[in-house]
Amino acid sequence: GGGGFRCGSRLLAQSLRRFASTLVVAEHEGGLVKPSSLSALAAAEAIGKDNKVSVLLGGSGPALHKAADHAASSHPLVSEVLVADAEALAHPLAEPWAELLRSVQQKGGYSHVITSSASFGKNLLPRAAALLDVSPVTDVTAITEPRVFVRPIYAGNALCTVKYTGEDPCMMSIRSTSFSPTTDAMSESKVAPITQVDLSFLSEGTIGKSTWVNLTSQDTERPDLANARVVVTGGRGLKSAENFKLLEQLAEKLGAAVGATRAAVDAGYVPNDLQVGQTGKIVAPELYMAFGVSGAIQHLAGMRDSKVIVAVNKDADAPIFQVADYGLIADLFEVLDELLKKIPEK
Ligand code: FAD
Repeated sequence: GGGGFRCGSRLLAQSLRRFASTLVVAEHEGGLVKPSSLSALAAAEAIGKDNKVSVLLGGSGPALHKAADHAASSHPLVSEVLVADAEALAHPLAEPWAELLRSVQQKGGYSHVITSSASFGKNLLPRAAALLDVSPVTDVTAITEPRVFVRPIYAGNALCTVKYTGEDPCMMSIRSTSFSPTTDAMSESKVAPITQVDLSFLSEGTIGKSTWVNLTSQDTERPDLANARVVVTGGRGLKSAENFKLLEQLAEKLGAAVGATRAAVDAGYVPNDLQVGQTGKIVAPELYMAFGVSGAIQHLAGMRDSKVIVAVNKDADAPIFQVADYGLIADLFEVLDELLKKIPEK
């Protein structure tokens, strides 16, 4: 009778829990899923190898549909791609996106929702979580169990293990530098179906509080700071915008992105989108070269996970040397001069 029913529903709840289903909210650019969203897919895999993953893409125009095709064959766990084609979603505005996320979650009943912790996810996640009445877990760097996560606190000086005990969905943002996208070649036959999302939520009225003005970005041939394999960073030790050109020349030769400390940005040597650190970008390249950077904790918070760190500073006591794999106590201008002479053109 009733007891049997309760037992049955408990079993059902347990089995639902065992088989996670995850919604990855993805970003796209130029008809491709962004690398940071491919990292979110890797995080979905870390939740469980039998995780059923749906990818949500929004926007409008042909690039959206090209990105959907990319998403459909981007990871073996992807079982479905949801496409929301609407002008209101063409820009990363939190209001319409949060409504979209709420509507898709209410329909799909996912156990997990993942975004990358870049500005899009930072903007969207708290609002969407509030609409769904759950607490998001932000900046996840490791997943040890489906609901147990590691995240940095105190600007990365301590790691905290948190267990999510709330209702479904467990919503989180992940640090893309901590999850490498799967590089396994997908077999041609494994292409997930693409479904159009019901857009009736767009008529619900909360949309339109914010409007898109424009996007200003630096036109550069060099790789994007957040994804570059090599980053060459300058600090206050560079002393002028003019001298930063030396770093740009080095970056050109190495195929690297240029980064900067907040002191260098505040002094007006470079624009603030180059800032690396707690209040800038988080990077973890194969090689990070720091010239005239003291190594303040707020700077280390943005680059300490780099694979190989090289530091050039004339002060032997500079804290940057504590995290450096290779340290050179020298005048940075002499070192740059020599490097520029000895490294051949790319
Ligand atoms: P300095 O600390 O002035 O160091 C310059 C270094 O250059 C010195 O070590 C000096 O020995 C060396 N030097 C000078 N001339 C030469 C030369 N000719 N050859 C070799 N070496 C030379 N900072 C960030 O970078 N990113 C952040 O995101 C960030 N967020 C912050 C958030 C908060 C809330 C706060 C309070 C601070 C934040 N900061 C951040 C600032 C941070 O505390 C430091 O002030 C900053 O990182 C210092 O930058 P710097 O290393 O370029 O300058």
